[in-house]
Amino acid sequence: MSLRELPSVEKFANSLSKIISLPKPLIIGFVRRELDGWRQQILDGKEVNREEIETSITENLNHFAASKLKPVINGTGVLIHTNLGRSPLGKTAADALVNIATGYSNLEFNLPEGTRGKRAGYLETALACLLDAEASTVVNNCAAALIVILRHLANGEKNEVIVSRGELVEIGGGFRIPEILETSGAKLVEVGATNKTRLSDYANAITPNTALILKVHRSNFYMGGFTAEPEASELSALAHEHGIPLVEDIGSGALMNTDELAPIDHEPTPQASLKNGIDLVCFSGDKLLGGPQSGIIAGKSDLIAGIKNEPFFRAVRCDKLILTVLQESIDEYLRTQSDPSQTDIPTLRNLAETTQKLQARADVILSKIGEITKGEITSTNSTATTGGGTMPTSQIPSIALSVNPTGISLNQLSRSLRTGKPAIVGYTDQEKFCLDLRTIFPWQDDAIASQLRTILA
Ligand SMILES: *Cc1c(COP(=O)(O)O)cnc(C)c1O
Repeated sequence: MSLRELPSVEKFANSLSKIISLPKPLIIGFVRRELDGWRQQILDGKEVNREEIETSITENLNHFAASKLKPVINGTGVLIHTNLGRSPLGKTAADALVNIATGYSNLEFNLPEGTRGKRAGYLETALACLLDAEASTVVNNCAAALIVILRHLANGEKNEVIVSRGELVEIGGGFRIPEILETSGAKLVEVGATNKTRLSDYANAITPNTALILKVHRSNFYMGGFTAEPEASELSALAHEHGIPLVEDIGSGALMNTDELAPIDHEPTPQASLKNGIDLVCFSGDKLLGGPQSGIIAGKSDLIAGIKNEPFFRAVRCDKLILTVLQESIDEYLRTQSDPSQTDIPTLRNLAETTQKLQARADVILSKIGEITKGEITSTNSTATTGGGTMPTSQIPSIALSVNPTGISLNQLSRSLRTGKPAIVGYTDQEKFCLDLRTIFPWQDDAIASQLRTILA
């Protein structure tokens, strides 16, 4: 084929814009880049035909369109799925978000005085109250929280940070504790062995240049067998004897005893850490807390004040939308402290849902789907997990819809659901396609029934 036979950018983009709803300039730019590639291939002597080119460009553009952020029904049974946006928000938080987002707000304005106000003042007080901490503040995520803490406490000559070799974890997204320390200008001082670190290991590593002792929660892996580490209270006594702050990155940061909601491990809470003498804790807002992406720092008020004065703090501060959602989430915890079963936090609700209720929903969905010709569909026992790098050994009993497809391959079935409207993501288990109901919201059941019926009827 000759270069002259290539479709024109303008005409082809026009025809694509009728079937793919993306802004026209985006389609034109996409088609132009793709055609440039084909032009080069033709110049290199490759045999191609116009139909092949048009099919390929259409498919690639569809792929690109599918990458635009959109809602997904999570049938994976992984409650905090980092690839699927971690924690969904409750109705109160979502309503507050719309309310603040669509107008002006008192973000930094003191209404009674009519003067400049303190950003996040209410939220910081509510957090400190909930966590029983002297003070608290918020940044964009837990990684940023750890970096700003390190920048404040470890600098100049006094930059040594003592960490147990058993806690040099990678916390996902390629973010490793040793690398975070390096990025922050801190010098890592490793102590102990992978499985055992003693109080004396910490004590022997303290020098005049020790900036802090850091504990990191092993949130995404499990260590069993011959292991030992000092209690937080012992470590705290040692640190304070030397006038050194003790900091803990607790990652997921369950704000309540999650083991009371579901048959899962006990996840450490920031409240318990602070009670045990940790000076500063940091944790994520969008893991077990069930709020927006954010990193919460809580502890001693002089340390929090110092952190907020760091120039770097300005670079990682939260915007009004995050602050609004987090403020509602924390208020929700404070409101339902005496009866957590009443919470509006979806992550906690999903965690606590009984399998009887899930089974009842599965039965209704199955009856709505009715007879299918392309295989068999039943409900089955399954196992959900918390995910998001939390409680790696926890297995939560759950109920799933299970499809044994015939006349359509497993791959075709799961791809059709992923690319449908709404997009539905499940998992495969022993040649069956499964959708775990623990992570699917009741208001999504009808969409599940109708998509499955359309594909399998
Ligand atoms: C998840 C996690 C982080 C990172 O939190 P982000 O909010 O995703 O930045 C840091 N430390 C630990 C221990 C974690 O589990």
